[in-house]
Amino acid sequence: MMTRPCDALPPVRGSYTPDAALNDLVWFRAGGPAEILFRPADVEDLATFLFAKPVDTRVSVVGVGSNLLVRDGGIPGVVVRLPGSFGKVTVDGTRVTAGAAALDANVARIAADAGIAGLEFLRGIPGTIGGALKMNAGCYGREIKDIFVAATAINGTGGIVTLQPADMGFVYRKAQVPDDLIFVGAVFEGERDEPAAIRMRMNKLVEDREASQPVKTRTGGSTFKNPPGHKAWQLIDQAGCRGLMRGQAQVSEKHCNFLINTANASAADIESLGEEIRARVKANSGIELEWEIKRVGVPPSAERSK
Ligand SMILES: Cc1cc2nc3c(=O)[nH]c(=O)nc-3n(C[C@H](O)[C@H](O)[C@H](O)COP(=O)(O)OP(=O)(O)OC[C@H]3O[C@@H](n4cnc5c(N)ncnc54)[C@H](O)[C@@H]3O)c2cc1C
Repeated sequence: MMTRPCDALPPVRGSYTPDAALNDLVWFRAGGPAEILFRPADVEDLATFLFAKPVDTRVSVVGVGSNLLVRDGGIPGVVVRLPGSFGKVTVDGTRVTAGAAALDANVARIAADAGIAGLEFLRGIPGTIGGALKMNAGCYGREIKDIFVAATAINGTGGIVTLQPADMGFVYRKAQVPDDLIFVGAVFEGERDEPAAIRMRMNKLVEDREASQPVKTRTGGSTFKNPPGHKAWQLIDQAGCRGLMRGQAQVSEKHCNFLINTANASAADIESLGEEIRARVKANSGIELEWEIKRVGVPPSAERSK
């Protein structure tokens, strides 16, 4: 692959890694590398990079890749991954402030320990707060929108932006915000309850998930959004896709809106299995499934434009 030299990029205190494997950083454990992986030292370092980068630099951001399918040719340009230093979580009254790299499950646990209810659902989402904000992540009837107070992000030219609820454009599994925004943190609001009661609800949620979803496999979570009035898994099941395989990618037997990398599936196997499902569901029910998983990057043969 043609990799742009890192010295064409502004000096940073964090690290640049050229041709960085991403497959260990995403849940599917499949797909190609980042042309350059950038781990900023802190918010100021990220802002400086975005301000000073050459204008034609493509910048994207990954969390822990629990909703990502990275194509086999990798991701051109600079891929930002916020390190643990962006993962601080603090509590003030019934408010929780979390850095964008904080794991949702940790935020849920810290809220529970502090006697703040309403954030339990985050325990079931295996991503970061940055990914949860972008995806309006949710489960068991609650989503980010319901607890959101404000978020802070850096825009494509390094400016700090504060977003109020009206700025987030939350819809089902999506925040309608400008593509160049990189979230660095958010404030959430819950309500008072006994830590023991909150923990009990959280544990129940984890048990229910483990019983119904292949949460301990190489997967990207729910592959398709539920179309209005329908459950994606039911449409997939009715179209006869449960267990269907393409290469080493498989439609989960346990929950057929989940695709699984059974061993060493390529991203192309996983994506074409998804497209096969879409075609079968369309033929069977007339309904077009919409991808919930974000497919990013390029196929191996594609020329990288920078
Ligand atoms: C087993 C399993 C179960 C799941 N269950 C659920 C569920 O119940 N409910 C649900 O909603 N989701 C679920 N998911 C999907 C996934 O966990 C969520 O979408 C999660 O919010 C993604 O977070 P992430 O950090 O992994 O983001 P990634 O997958 O890395 O990225 C997802 C998107 O967010 C963007 N992004 C990430 N960080 C930032 C940032 N700092 N600033 C701006 N954009 C950013 C990325 O560019 C990308 O567009 C599940 C996934 C798995 C594997």
